[in-house]
Amino acid sequence: MSYRIGVRALCEFTAREGDLDLRFTPAPTAEEGQAGHRTVIARRGPDYLSEITVAGDYPGLRVVGRADGYDPDFKLLEEIKTHRGDVSRIPHNHQVLHWAQVKVYGWLLCQQWGMDEIDLAVVYFNVVTQQETVFRERFGAESLREFFQLQCQRFIAWAEQETLHRQRRDQDLEALSFPYPSFRHGQRQLAEAVYRAARDGEQLLAQATTGIGKTLGTLFPQLKAFPAQQLDRLFFLCAKTPGRHLALEALQALHQHNPGLNLRVLEHVARDKACEYPERACHGDSCPLAKGFYDRLPAARLAALQAGWLDQAQVRAIAREHQICPYYLSQELCRWSDVVVCDYNYYFDLGALLYSLTLINDWRVTLLVDEAHNLIDRARGMYSAELDQARFNSLRRSAPARLKGPLDRVARHWNQLHQDQQADYQIYPQVADLFVASLNKAVSALTDHLTDQPTGNDAALLQFYLDAMLFCRLAEAYGPHSLFDITRYQDRQQALSTLCLRNVIPAPFLAERFRLAHSSTLFSATLNPAPYYRDLLGLHQDCQALEVESPFRPEQLDVRITSKLSTRYPDRTDSLGPISALIAQQFHQRPGNYLAFFSSYDYLQQALAHLRRHYPQIPLWEQSRQMNESQRQSFLERFTSESQGVGFAVLGGAFGEGIDLPGPRLIGAFIATLGLPQVNPVNEEIRQRMEDQFGNGYDYAYLYPGLQKVVQAAGRVIRTTEDQGVVWLLDQRFAERRIRRWLPSWWQIRI
Ligand code: SF4
Repeated sequence: MSYRIGVRALCEFTAREGDLDLRFTPAPTAEEGQAGHRTVIARRGPDYLSEITVAGDYPGLRVVGRADGYDPDFKLLEEIKTHRGDVSRIPHNHQVLHWAQVKVYGWLLCQQWGMDEIDLAVVYFNVVTQQETVFRERFGAESLREFFQLQCQRFIAWAEQETLHRQRRDQDLEALSFPYPSFRHGQRQLAEAVYRAARDGEQLLAQATTGIGKTLGTLFPQLKAFPAQQLDRLFFLCAKTPGRHLALEALQALHQHNPGLNLRVLEHVARDKACEYPERACHGDSCPLAKGFYDRLPAARLAALQAGWLDQAQVRAIAREHQICPYYLSQELCRWSDVVVCDYNYYFDLGALLYSLTLINDWRVTLLVDEAHNLIDRARGMYSAELDQARFNSLRRSAPARLKGPLDRVARHWNQLHQDQQADYQIYPQVADLFVASLNKAVSALTDHLTDQPTGNDAALLQFYLDAMLFCRLAEAYGPHSLFDITRYQDRQQALSTLCLRNVIPAPFLAERFRLAHSSTLFSATLNPAPYYRDLLGLHQDCQALEVESPFRPEQLDVRITSKLSTRYPDRTDSLGPISALIAQQFHQRPGNYLAFFSSYDYLQQALAHLRRHYPQIPLWEQSRQMNESQRQSFLERFTSESQGVGFAVLGGAFGEGIDLPGPRLIGAFIATLGLPQVNPVNEEIRQRMEDQFGNGYDYAYLYPGLQKVVQAAGRVIRTTEDQGVVWLLDQRFAERRIRRWLPSWWQIRI
């Protein structure tokens, strides 16, 4: 087998050495980089040759590329690199890489034109000062040939074992067998649909209740489709940590049932969860695990890939053994793993790593999106930006003198934005151009400042720089998918404001990411109605929608609707008595563990106080505001097989989904309200946008998001085919046909 690789990619793989260095170095933009190249070339003589195509061979490998420029008068080959700031701040590992590239080009040219020696230069062009710094050295063709061969040897050894791994992986996946004697009810239906989507390169929305083994039911067919579809990677994308753990358990089951399975699985976690020195900075002078990172990376990478199973603990252990940073090792392993299990943002975010790798490497990838109902809100957050004026003013006061002018201009435009605003909150049809122009100028000034003075800057200044860049970037992409709103507030007698570019329809951003994937399956217990998810997530119009048969029998769940109770805002006080009476009656009739869900903390506390006053004998547990992970765990640990009581929780909150209390640990739920988002100016504007785009404003903005929370909360009750429970839907609107049609079809509802 023969490989083909570009000079740059070859050197990036084989020639990196030294420290990891992520100190802030403002880089030129792509446009500045191209303009810089043109400027340097224009300065050269008339005989100067630019963009010379070169190629060369090594047994089993063809190396191709384009050298920046050659000056025949001086027999000089130049590699041009643009930069900002002092040339001495270019990290050492980048300089090594630049020299490796020019040396490979040097050999290819010597060989192509029959030269015995050549002068090589790395030309650093400062895009601000337009000055060149040239490092030049003469090399004999023989030494360049040896260098070239060394890089090729290193790469080919790696490429050969990669090819071998892929052959074995595909053979193993073809023979992959399911880890249990049979599929569960509904699991086969799901697996077949996922396989078809993977085979035909389609998008699939699969709604399936808990209990059918969704994770394995999607992973297994997706992996089976690998060999025939010549897939490179599978990304299992999760909203939360438990989803990641379930995916790893399912993959572990496949590994155990198929001993020797050649499948590299990586759990990629966030930097703050992986970092061993949270108080240090990521460069060799600060963190010992960044020192010599690239020198030790090849051995660590090889050890990791030989291990194959790379959950967080395993990556950490290998990183420790080789004394390198576990987070950046994991980031490197994203390039070489067959399955990456990680958070949504590694594929869907603006600067997502896995998305960029897929683009750069032209990978054929397939996506599994777990608990996909969460993606709408998560993606809205990824494509929104906010700037707060109080924070801005405080950093402006302490900012370096050279930034005063640009920041003052931003402040002037900012004040004008809200000075005529009548209401505290207002949505504007357009982003304020003059303000964004001043912000862009401030970003440029900040870039120059950080270039000249990369260390010792205020953290607030750096944060503002990042926020402002994001704001400018999203302002450029502004469209009907987003709102521009201003919230005015008083701060020490002064009128200030918060500016927000608020994404409400993430579809235009996500569509490109889904389009790049060969196939995608999005699954959850609540993906109904499918057009709502399809429209907001940017899926194809012909995306398949599947409702998997539930494994649960209607007799398992008694769904009751109170036909005479209103939980609308004005009726809440009146609703407290009937709700307490109903909870008490149900509890006495069948003592055990229940969850009662309310639309807000206020409503929750009123109902809790009422029940406590009138039925003091019922044990009550309360979800409090801002519980941390261990408090949440303690709350759940109260629900045991022997306990009896009612837990009060917020609908759509930490206990409204993603918790598993099987059997007697939970035998019923009370759900007060339809979970509709509050009617406020933002939601009203969202309704209008949805109406304009999809002709279904109220349902898209209020009803569907609300019912999704209701069905998720109700789904906590029946977790296995042996469970038996009750769900009380506490609002008369649940009895209306327009609402009931969106509730799960297997529910048998009594009014
Ligand atoms: S261990 Fe932490 S500080 Fe050190 S390089 Fe890794 S992420 Fe950065």
